[in-house]
Amino acid sequence: MKALVKTKAQVGLELKEVPIPEPGPDDVCIHIMKSSICGTDLHIYDWDDWASANINIPLTIGHEYVGIIDKVGSNVSDYSPGDLVSGEGHIVCGRCRNCLAGRRHLCNKTLGVGIDRPGAFAEYLAIPVDNVWNCDRKIPLEILTCFDPLGNATHAALSFNVIGEDVLITGAGPIGLMAASIVRHAGARHVVVTDPNPYRLALAEKMDVTMAINPLQQDLIEIMDYLDMKEGFDVGLEMSGNPKALDSMLKHMSHGGKIALLGLLPETTVTDWNKVIFHGLTIKGIYGREMFETWYKMTTMLQSGLDISQVVTHQISYKDFTDGFELMRSGQCGKVVLDWEQM
Ligand SMILES: [Zn+2]
Repeated sequence: MKALVKTKAQVGLELKEVPIPEPGPDDVCIHIMKSSICGTDLHIYDWDDWASANINIPLTIGHEYVGIIDKVGSNVSDYSPGDLVSGEGHIVCGRCRNCLAGRRHLCNKTLGVGIDRPGAFAEYLAIPVDNVWNCDRKIPLEILTCFDPLGNATHAALSFNVIGEDVLITGAGPIGLMAASIVRHAGARHVVVTDPNPYRLALAEKMDVTMAINPLQQDLIEIMDYLDMKEGFDVGLEMSGNPKALDSMLKHMSHGGKIALLGLLPETTVTDWNKVIFHGLTIKGIYGREMFETWYKMTTMLQSGLDISQVVTHQISYKDFTDGFELMRSGQCGKVVLDWEQM
C-alpha cells in the first residue's frame, strides 16, 4: 500500500510502498478514505526538537481519518467489513486507575496513533476495536475525518457551562474556529476570537462569532466596552500556545472565570499567577478527547445544526501532500484534507 513515511531525521516525508497491516485478534483494519493534517504532523514533517525527541523513524504518520472497515480480527464481533468509521488516536492501557474508572482520556500510559505506532496517512490502518468510532453516514466525509481535532475543540468548549456567557477564544486555527462554533451552538452570548492572522480572522467571521479581532491592532478592553460587557470574559479557551495570548486572557477574565488551555505553550512562558489567585480563576488542561462522551457529543451536535464546514478549506490528493504541508506552514488555510481515493 501507499503510505506517507517519516524516513529521515530531516524536513519532509516520503511517499512509499509499505506492507498492508494485518489486524491482530482485537483489531480492525480500516481502508482510509480521507485523512487530515494536524499541527502535530507538521512538527514531525519539519523535524523540530519535539519530533526528534519523540518520534522513532521510520514511521507512517497521521492520526485524523475516516474510512471503511476492510478486515476484522478473530475476537471482533460487533464491527464488520463495510462499516464507516473513524477512530480515537489515543490508545490507552485499560488497566491504570483512570482507565478502570472510565476516565480513559487521563490514562498515563497513552500511546498515539501516528506518533508511537503506525498512523493513518496510508491506504490502510490497523487499530484496536476499542478505539473505533462508528460514523453517521449523513455527516460528510471531510467533516468525519476532522473528528479528532473537533474532539479537542468539543472537549475544551464543553468543559464549562457557556449558556449566556461571554467566551474569549485566543487562536483561530482549526481547533479555535471549531470551538467558536461549538460555544455558539451551546448558547454563549458573546464569542470573541483573537488571532493576528487575517486569513484566519476572515474564517472566524464566517463562523458566526460576535467579533474576530487582531490583538495587535485592537484592545480587548475597547471590545468589551463596545459589547457592553461589565466585568470580563466568563470562559476563556486558549488555543494559540502564545504566551502573550494567555497573558491577555488572564487580564480580561471576570473574577471566578474558567479557562481551558489547549495550545502548547513554550517552556519559558511566564504567567501572572497572582491574577489567577486574586481573581479566583479555574484553569483546566485539555489533552485529547473524553472516550467516548466527546465523540458522542460532537456527533449529536453535528446532527443538531453545528456547522464546521467553513473550517475545511483545502481538499487535495495524498500525492500532493507536500503542497498540503506547505499550506499548513503558511497559515493560509483552515483544515487541509488528504483524499486517499483520488488516483
Ligand atoms: Zn490507562
